[in-house]
Amino acid sequence: MVSSLTAVLFDLDGTLLDGDAAWRSGVDRMRERCPDVSRENALNAWEVAFNEHFHRYLAGEMTMTDCQAARMRTWAEVTGAKVPEGTELEWFEDYQSGYAAGWVAYDDVSACLKDLGGSRLGVITNGDSVQQRAKLAALGLTDAFDAVVASGDIGIAKPDPRIFRLAAERLQVAPERCAFIGDLYETDALAAAAVGMTGIWLDRGAAPLPGTASSPVVRIASLSELPPLLKAR
Ligand SMILES: [Mg+2]
Repeated sequence: MVSSLTAVLFDLDGTLLDGDAAWRSGVDRMRERCPDVSRENALNAWEVAFNEHFHRYLAGEMTMTDCQAARMRTWAEVTGAKVPEGTELEWFEDYQSGYAAGWVAYDDVSACLKDLGGSRLGVITNGDSVQQRAKLAALGLTDAFDAVVASGDIGIAKPDPRIFRLAAERLQVAPERCAFIGDLYETDALAAAAVGMTGIWLDRGAAPLPGTASSPVVRIASLSELPPLLKAR
C-alpha cells in the first residue's frame, strides 16, 4: 500500500511495453523487403522518421494515416531503401504486423503492479486509442487499470497538463496524491511534476542523466524500485 499517495499512473510505450523490442520486430519485418539495409541503419532511420512526424500527429496537424506514410517516406530517404511512390502504406502495414507481434511487457511490470495492489492504477499514453488499448490487451493488462487515457481519445497529448489532470479526475484522486511514471524525462516526469503529481522518471539506462540535483522528479532505473519508493513517501 502507498502511504500518502493513493493513485499510481504509468506511461505505456517504453515504460510497461518494451518499445525497443517492438520497434526491432517491426523494422525486421520491413527489412524482409530490403535485406540490403542493415538493421542498425533501419532502426536509426526509423527513429529519425518517428521524431520528425509523430509529434505532428499528436498535435492534430496530420491524420494517423498521413503520419504513417510520411514516416515511411522519410525512412526510405534516410536508409536509401527503394520504396516506390504510393506503396508507403503497404510497407507500413508490414511494419505494423511485425510491430504488433513484438508487443511484450518488460520483466519488471507484473510484480510491480501486484505490489501496488490497493492503489488506484491508471495509464496516460500518447497515441491512437485503439492501438494503445490493443497493446494493453496483448500485454494481458486490460483489467489491470482503473483508468486508461490515450491522447487519441481527447486530442490532447503529454506534456500538456490537461491530460494529467483529466486522468487524475477519472481516478477521482487529486493530482497531488498521484505518482506518474514514464520513460521520457520532460514529456512524462517533468510534465507530471508540473501539475503537482510525484513525477518519476524511469531511466532504463539508455538516456544520459540531465542535471538532477535540483530536479523536481525522482529517477528510478527499474519498476522494481517503484513500490518501495512509494511506500516510503
Ligand atoms: Mg514512453
